[in-house]
Amino acid sequence: MTRTREIQAKVLLSHIRQPDTWFGLKYNMNLYRGCQHGCIYCDSRSECYQIEDFDGEVLIKANAIALLRKELASKRVKGPIGLGSMNDSYMPLEREVNLTGRALRVIAEFGFPVHVMTKSDLVLRDLDTLCEINARFAAISFTITTADDELGRKLEPRASLVSDRFRAMRVLADHGIRTGISMMPILPFIEDTEENIRQIVEKAHENGASYIIPWFGMSLRDRQRAYYYRKLDLLFPGLRQRYEQAYGHQYGCAAPNADRLSSVFNKLCGQFGIATRMVQYEPVKSTQMSFF
Ligand code: SF4
Repeated sequence: MTRTREIQAKVLLSHIRQPDTWFGLKYNMNLYRGCQHGCIYCDSRSECYQIEDFDGEVLIKANAIALLRKELASKRVKGPIGLGSMNDSYMPLEREVNLTGRALRVIAEFGFPVHVMTKSDLVLRDLDTLCEINARFAAISFTITTADDELGRKLEPRASLVSDRFRAMRVLADHGIRTGISMMPILPFIEDTEENIRQIVEKAHENGASYIIPWFGMSLRDRQRAYYYRKLDLLFPGLRQRYEQAYGHQYGCAAPNADRLSSVFNKLCGQFGIATRMVQYEPVKSTQMSFF
């Protein structure tokens, strides 16, 4: 069971270096430190982030709502705010704490656009607020790296089932909210099959996704690598040795067939009219705003 502890944050919103060609963000915020989802590949375990007990304890930024209100009041540029880079804003404890839900209410009040990245269908709890924010702009990206629930359960043990993420995507799309997939990481020797990529794109299409942001590989470093390799030994015996042989101590670990996967992916997305990258956010003078 995860322990929780309240902390007081000094600053909430960070500025993202422009242009952010990956996610189209101007600001980013994390309402928690640590994450309950337990994804075996999570980069937030890396030493540089200095989160000592990433899986065992979640820190709750108790003053986040007051801080957000204060910081938004002083921002001149109403650029997209990202949620979900270092933890999942909709991890299970959010159900009771409701920090994300309350933060979105403040964002709606101040009229900022948002881009939420999550692996949870709990995002639907805030559907009404997201619809309100969407009068300006809201985008919800589900991280999906396999279409297979059973494999997803192994890799992301406490996140929503992949099929539930697709169902949530359908609901958001039906409410006119732009939704899509952050298809990363694609784990070498586990998820890097044409079949997997094909299934993800097809299900994305069926469920109203308008974009998929791909990365055919993963990153590995220090504590994150050690944790991932321990899990490989447990879940996929023999695979660690394959990684060691292929990547040594490399940080960037592209899938060996990344080019082939990329070509299959681009072709399928072209057929379905799904965008493969985010277009930079450009505020326009009329009431219409474009983001992708
Ligand atoms: S949801 Fe994101 S932050 Fe949480 S464990 Fe998984 S990869 Fe890490």
